[in-house]
Amino acid sequence: MTGPTWLVATHNPGKLEEIRALLGDRLSLIGAANAKLTAPEETAPTFVENALAKARHGAAATGLPTIADDSGLVVDALGGAPGVRSARYAGDDASDADNIERLLTALADLPRQRRAARFICVIVALRSADDPTPLIVQGAWQGHIAERPRGQGGFGYDPIFEDAEQGLTAAELSAAEKNARSHRGQALQALRRCFPR
Ligand code: IMP
Repeated sequence: MTGPTWLVATHNPGKLEEIRALLGDRLSLIGAANAKLTAPEETAPTFVENALAKARHGAAATGLPTIADDSGLVVDALGGAPGVRSARYAGDDASDADNIERLLTALADLPRQRRAARFICVIVALRSADDPTPLIVQGAWQGHIAERPRGQGGFGYDPIFEDAEQGLTAAELSAAEKNARSHRGQALQALRRCFPR
């Protein structure tokens, strides 16, 4: 553990691991489960509003400076869906496998040139619940939706998201390779610059 203590307002262990890999040498990070934090409703139409709501909820509940991520998968052929609803695409209690199955069904028979998609990540850092100058960073990762899941790594839609440059799915990349190119990795690199040693 190093640096000041910050809460990461997420219950998603995959996100927490990626955030730790890129910020853990600058900040002492506590996950939402360890802080016994409940999850707020995510009702806003934009990633930035949802990230801000999660960060403010975490900071108000714990009194700690707080980082929150809102992210999702934007598929061109579906008019941007699942977007901010990515975690709940197949229903409120949907598993990653349920969400993947729904997406593959929605895109069934579409050729590769119509399967373009990107992951979006917005991260908000609040020094306190009423911080008037939140730090806001974001990243986007361009790719395609594969025809079937491949790979064992990562979480969420990783097994069906093919990186545009390499053609490997995010679940076929090592954690370090994913962080080097992903939406969350880009946002976290920008946030690192706000916490110089
Ligand atoms: P939320 O930010 O809690 O609303 O959830 C974002 C959802 O988007 C996750 O539950 C995943 O389904 C998906 N997602 C976001 N980032 C990634 C990623 O890096 N890999 C795979 N799926 C992701």
